[in-house]
Amino acid sequence: YFGAATATAGLACVALLLLRSQRRRPRRDDSVASNALDLIGNTPLLELPSLSAATGCRVLAKAEFLNPGGSAKDRVAAAIVAEAEAAGALREGGTVVEATAGSTGISLALVCAAKGYRCHLVAADDVSPQKRELITALGATLELVRPAAIADAAHPVNVARARAAALGDGSIFADQFENLANTRAHEAGTAAEIWAQRSRECHTRLDWPTRGTVDAFVMGAGTGGTLAGVSRTLKRRKADPRSRIPRRKPSVRVFLADPPGSALFHRVEHGVLYAPQQQERTARRNRYDTIMEGVGCDRLTANFAAARIDAAFRESCAMARRLLRDEGLFVGGSAAMNCVGVLRAAEVLPPGSTIVTVLCDGGQRYLHSVWREERRREGESCAQCG
Ligand code: PMP
Repeated sequence: YFGAATATAGLACVALLLLRSQRRRPRRDDSVASNALDLIGNTPLLELPSLSAATGCRVLAKAEFLNPGGSAKDRVAAAIVAEAEAAGALREGGTVVEATAGSTGISLALVCAAKGYRCHLVAADDVSPQKRELITALGATLELVRPAAIADAAHPVNVARARAAALGDGSIFADQFENLANTRAHEAGTAAEIWAQRSRECHTRLDWPTRGTVDAFVMGAGTGGTLAGVSRTLKRRKADPRSRIPRRKPSVRVFLADPPGSALFHRVEHGVLYAPQQQERTARRNRYDTIMEGVGCDRLTANFAAARIDAAFRESCAMARRLLRDEGLFVGGSAAMNCVGVLRAAEVLPPGSTIVTVLCDGGQRYLHSVWREERRREGESCAQCG
């Protein structure tokens, strides 16, 4: 009797210890990172309780602002550089050239600093002083050109391509819009993580609240890389048969949240890409801008073409202030726009659906744009966005 009792107590202790070790699972991987680039990815998936309460759905957001370069573009920059190295296109002493003064430029500058490459960025001359300083502080060179249409040789993308070609072998044009390393980074990273992440209340391997239960994904598109990588991967996945939570839908629904001024909404909803200069553009600084930095596009890029999108919303309402007030989250405009897209998606999804979106970057880079506008609006109210 004594032996049996001891064995039972022993087993109970082991079970308790196992449970405790599962409970103390840290927010992020607790292994030692081998270098700074190892910090890229594995971002937390975070519930947004105020949006869950407002929609009757479970709203989860990938906290991409926690990447070391401050945005999801760290994943893309690391993947583009790694693939170019593996292909032998980028070699020691080489330069990575790209057209952007946005998140991708900042992430490429960081990855190049970590790996010892030179980085040359081409941007329109109306880029904010804050971004110019950040890019040059990270060691990249910044060439400013006048804003131009994509068909014009003076467009930053065309200038960057020409600069890379002039540098010759060993240097690359990163080409985030057409380079499918971008989509692959989100397939292997963002999407795989969303699929595997479980909430902290889950203690056993059988509790997988996101696995197999993601009903919808909402995201804006700049290059379309995030939408392509996540939509392709999630739509391909089958529910985990070990999950106690039944799969609610035969396939994940993917929604594009597109700002006014972008042509992508029409592409998804009507199958045509309107000429935005004539039909759609809402000029902010110049006629080539959409109203939201980083998202919206006037052409069909290879990465966007690879996305599998079910429906699109046209979003413009501000939400950044509400996220700060209700969630304590300080995010940029595209993250806020995605959350407005979540509200729209919830209107067409069954109650209780799990909706995943992305908080692309933090608000620090937008103190003089989105956040200045948010402060100006203080006191005004917006029907959907509080
Ligand atoms: N948000 C921000 C702040 C961005 O810079 C970008 C990319 N330009 C996006 C969202 C859109 O991501 P993707 O390029 O993967 O479509």
